[in-house]
Amino acid sequence: MECILYLTDSCNLKCTYCYEGNTKNRSFLSSENLNKALEFIVNNNIPGEYIYLTFLGGEPLLNKDRIYEAMDLIHTKYRQWKDLFRYSITTNGILLDDGLIELMTKNQFNLSVSVDGDQMTHNLNRVSVSGADVYPVIMSKVKKLVENNIKFHIRMTVTANNVHLFYKNILYFYNLGIKSYHIAFDSFGAWEDRTLKEMDEQLNSLDEFYLKKIVDYEDMLIDLYDYKYTTILFKKDSKYCCAGTKSHITITGKGEIYPCGYVANQENWKLGTVTDGMDPAAFLRNVKKSVNNISKCRDCDIAFTCKGTKCGFQNYSLSGYLNTPLDCICRLERILYKHDRKVIKELFQNKHKRIMKLYTEAISYGLEINHQSAELLKDSSVLV
Ligand code: SF4
Ligand code: SF4
Repeated sequence: MECILYLTDSCNLKCTYCYEGNTKNRSFLSSENLNKALEFIVNNNIPGEYIYLTFLGGEPLLNKDRIYEAMDLIHTKYRQWKDLFRYSITTNGILLDDGLIELMTKNQFNLSVSVDGDQMTHNLNRVSVSGADVYPVIMSKVKKLVENNIKFHIRMTVTANNVHLFYKNILYFYNLGIKSYHIAFDSFGAWEDRTLKEMDEQLNSLDEFYLKKIVDYEDMLIDLYDYKYTTILFKKDSKYCCAGTKSHITITGKGEIYPCGYVANQENWKLGTVTDGMDPAAFLRNVKKSVNNISKCRDCDIAFTCKGTKCGFQNYSLSGYLNTPLDCICRLERILYKHDRKVIKELFQNKHKRIMKLYTEAISYGLEINHQSAELLKDSSVLV
């Protein structure tokens, strides 16, 4: 089960691109609801499956006591399931402290710190609620993580107003010793021809950087490439994620259950509560009402790897339909696909260990190369 647990809707920043909006509910998960949420999670998890628990907000560290309590509960009351838990957290870093870093390290948290780039870039969109410049505070925490060799990802949001600085900011982080990069594109932004072209150009530089500075090191990655290889190379049906089933739920600070963070707190998408359980029938009725009869993705040549065919609730937030992505999503995804293919081709041509390892393992698990990628591999004589 994947479970997103909102510790609070409140935040100490007011980012211009925040899809949750800046008039947040300001609810905080109570100890009582945390206990009920964990009980719900362990009782509803398919026996033996991993429980991927993500602490989210707002800014989750505004309610950091609940993280300590969750760890205590999982190691005492729910200890029977403790080995199944895998933890993630995304934070803006302001409230990261030594105690939390120790707890996260001990429990092998997958930690992401959201910083968009250098001070000027970051402050373009990520300002504090009080208007104060908190960038120095954030970077002091980031530098501490690097100095102490703590594994974490930098999570950058690329927007129409900072895309021209994208590559420069990757270099900036690289020179600070950061090894892992998670990039999010602001899907709600006002992308236009000029900014999409800019993104394409920035990615030309990034492709080269990735091939020269990242691929040779096992502990380094850029998710735009590394997390795409499997979906691009191997045959699979394009299908939406499982949000709303017991395999993926979102629990809010009030203990309400929603399919996905994009629709958290939207009453019509409420699946139930951690006290009363979930009502799948109501959810399915709502899904049926939110599907467009005609989907442009159905016959699309990149549907198998595109976010537009996976992330239904992002589509819904933008278009009102789960299966109707906006045109700008198509254009963003096509640009990314082009660059991923370019990089994959080069890695295969050099028989680089990063791609060959993945390829050999996937083939040994019975995965088959899809026809678009077979062409790439043939060129590099891996596939004959
Ligand atoms: S979102 Fe656009 S690019 Fe992606 S699969 Fe659908 S039609 Fe194709
Ligand atoms: S709809 Fe998108 S954001 Fe929501 S759970 Fe699925 S993949 Fe994640």
